[in-house]
Amino acid sequence: MNPSSIDLHVHTTASDGTLSPADAVREAIAGGVALLGIADHDTTDGIPPALEAAHEIGLTLIPGVELSVGSGKREIHVLGYFVDVANTALSRALAKLRGARDLRNERILQRLNDLGAPLDAARVQEIAGSGSVGRPHIAKALVEAGHVSSEGEAFGRYLARGKPAYVGRERLSPAEASRVIREAGGIPVLGHPAKIGPRQVIEGILDDGMGGIEVFHSDHDENDVALLMSIAQDRDLLITGGSDSHGPHSDRPLAIGEVDIPEWVGEQVMGRAPRWWREGR
Ligand SMILES: [Zn+2]
Ligand SMILES: [Zn+2]
Repeated sequence: MNPSSIDLHVHTTASDGTLSPADAVREAIAGGVALLGIADHDTTDGIPPALEAAHEIGLTLIPGVELSVGSGKREIHVLGYFVDVANTALSRALAKLRGARDLRNERILQRLNDLGAPLDAARVQEIAGSGSVGRPHIAKALVEAGHVSSEGEAFGRYLARGKPAYVGRERLSPAEASRVIREAGGIPVLGHPAKIGPRQVIEGILDDGMGGIEVFHSDHDENDVALLMSIAQDRDLLITGGSDSHGPHSDRPLAIGEVDIPEWVGEQVMGRAPRWWREGR
């Protein structure tokens, strides 16, 4: 794989990444990435410090976010690029999403307790570090506490959908996610769609107001890219790409830029940058 000079999908410690926003910017430039997009789960808190670091170093940083969205029984991810982090509708929606997640974690721990597998909430947060707690962290804590012998068993016995400690959570719909991103001046982009399902399913979600599609992603193979490119061209969608790097020491350590993205993607994305963003820089 050739490292790319573009990476529009990077996580930081503002969500579940292991690099601080400023370190992510430094890593990007050290790895030859000149156009970086930070898209943390359900938060834009990493954007202001990243912008500051990017400004000092002379790297172009696109503000982004990655919303967890419900579509039927699926969880899909909607990226928002060029969002105005000061937009109140967006901050309100993000706060609500994070609140729903906290409540869900509390309920999972309550159920585990009732099932005879109690965990210390503070320890679970410690495992998650400064990021937000998710089921993978709870699975690690279950192993550590000796309730199960592997993270796989933690999901199989307790945490997977349909298992006794599984708790669903309220989610935005794809249409609501698109609306809130557009209200914040951004472009909603369907994230890593290859694994969502067949073409009609992907197209159905794109119909919910998406302005772009993440064609290039570290999980996508050649066939995925070919299919997604044809969808993007049919619909004249913005084409984006990123590694989805969560930094070193994460479950799937990928360097920033460790994804194949053709150069023209960057030019095309910059060509569609909203005027408010270009003028504000
Ligand atoms: Zn994602
Ligand atoms: Zn991601």
